[in-house]
Amino acid sequence: MEMKISVRNLIEFVHRHGDIVSGGLGTSPKRMEEGTKAHVKIQKQRQKEEVAYEKERYLSYGLSLPEGMFLVDGRADGMVPKSYIEEIKSTYLPLAEITDEYAFLHWAQVMFYGFMHMKEEGLTELRLMLTYYHLEHETERSFEKNVTLKELETFVHGTIETYMAYVREDLAWKKKRNASLKELPFPFSSYRKGQRELAVDVYRTIRQGGKLFAKAPTGIGKTVSTLFPSVKALAEGEADKIFYLTAKGPLKAVAEETMALLEKRTAQVKFLTLTSKEKICVKEEVHCHPEYCERAKGHYDRINECILEILREERTYHKEMILAYAERYQVCPFELSLDLSFFSDVIICDYNYVFDPRVYLKRFFTDIREDYLFLVDEAHNLVDRARDMYSAELSKEEILAAKKLAKPYKYLHRPLSKLNDYFITLRKELEEAQGRRNYFGVSEDLIFLLKDFLQGFEIFQKEVQEDVEGRDVLTNVFFAIHGFLNISELYTEGYVTYEEKVGQDVRLKLFCVDPREILVEVFKRAKASILFSATLSPMRYYVDVLGG
Ligand code: SF4
Repeated sequence: MEMKISVRNLIEFVHRHGDIVSGGLGTSPKRMEEGTKAHVKIQKQRQKEEVAYEKERYLSYGLSLPEGMFLVDGRADGMVPKSYIEEIKSTYLPLAEITDEYAFLHWAQVMFYGFMHMKEEGLTELRLMLTYYHLEHETERSFEKNVTLKELETFVHGTIETYMAYVREDLAWKKKRNASLKELPFPFSSYRKGQRELAVDVYRTIRQGGKLFAKAPTGIGKTVSTLFPSVKALAEGEADKIFYLTAKGPLKAVAEETMALLEKRTAQVKFLTLTSKEKICVKEEVHCHPEYCERAKGHYDRINECILEILREERTYHKEMILAYAERYQVCPFELSLDLSFFSDVIICDYNYVFDPRVYLKRFFTDIREDYLFLVDEAHNLVDRARDMYSAELSKEEILAAKKLAKPYKYLHRPLSKLNDYFITLRKELEEAQGRRNYFGVSEDLIFLLKDFLQGFEIFQKEVQEDVEGRDVLTNVFFAIHGFLNISELYTEGYVTYEEKVGQDVRLKLFCVDPREILVEVFKRAKASILFSATLSPMRYYVDVLGG
């Protein structure tokens, strides 16, 4: 068998350390765009200086282990073959303040690429280069190291060996799981009317890939009819992971009961119910910062040991077990549950974790290397939920409230003042348009101002660590603006922009009327999707709007 992982995921799992700090700008559209531009700028500059410079070079390394072939791969930002390998990072941190601690994971990446290139070319020595580009000052600083193959081999093999401790537990589990599933009978003595047909259709869809829309009456036992063939498919190698997606809490309980029932009938399947951060957080407030939460402090120093013990000792991942381990290892229970989802066969969770661009599980869906199944329970709910998830709203009142609190921080106050002015102009225009209007498109001026605020917020996060007055309000506005920008990137023909004056307030909404186009893309993350409900009627409408 082959075990595949990207350089980045491998390093981030094995070598992560330190604190949890949420509210950063790591993946905002603005930040990603800036990062890409910085990469392109440096790569072009290098290519001018050296014709032999190659960018985005694919590299891989395969290691034959008793368990099978281990393959790690990725793209090096740049290299001059046989001379040096370069990794480029963009940052707002003053370049003089870059420490070994800060650069550790970045060095780890370039060491992997260096090793792969040396193996590829039969080299024994190579120069590694790590370049930081300061996004505000537009300056760069490079660090260099000369390394030998031996040094890098020790590091690379050590990293893989550490990771293999987790993989071995997982493989041993899967072996047991598959053996148990091969023998698994349907958990009831007979099928209800229509139940067998549904289970067969589900299994066929899983094997072939694609989507199945199933309208099945209440009482037929839809949960077991979809979960039973799906877990059987795990053992057949037709799927790697099942996402059981629900719109409401009680439906999660039904899925859990069904999994428990299958367990009683010999199935050994690890299932995990993802509980929202708010519900599983052990603090009074969800404020994931090392100065407020002792679990956030040093979380990444302790989490891997905790996971390994769970993999060795536990068979099911329920909330109480997660809370107990989180307590023992003093780690965040929410982050622990997310990590355990990697090692779960069935993840029972809200639609959000797959469909919502603000909270979906990026760890699974940014670099897909496995076959996923989406079982969408009560799928008729997905229409409204999708409209909601893909819409975003801002109001003048929240901008104004944040502006007042941002006075001490000019990098926040300036963009918020401009945004407030933008809304004042809107209000005047709306007064002449009977208080409301709608149109297609998103104002580029608005996007520019919102991105400007995000940049200011990144400085705020770095410079102001204490719990200052207004931090909550500013953070909430950050999330609102961040979400709005994310949604603006999805804006297609299925959208309408709606503006309304309510008293002195102005509300501006990007309203997703028809989520079809977005859903089509999201469903591509799965090998097969089963959308089932008693109320998928008229079927043609649901098939169309849900991206069938
Ligand atoms: S325990 Fe709560 S506050 Fe602490 S890191 Fe986890 S979610 Fe955040």
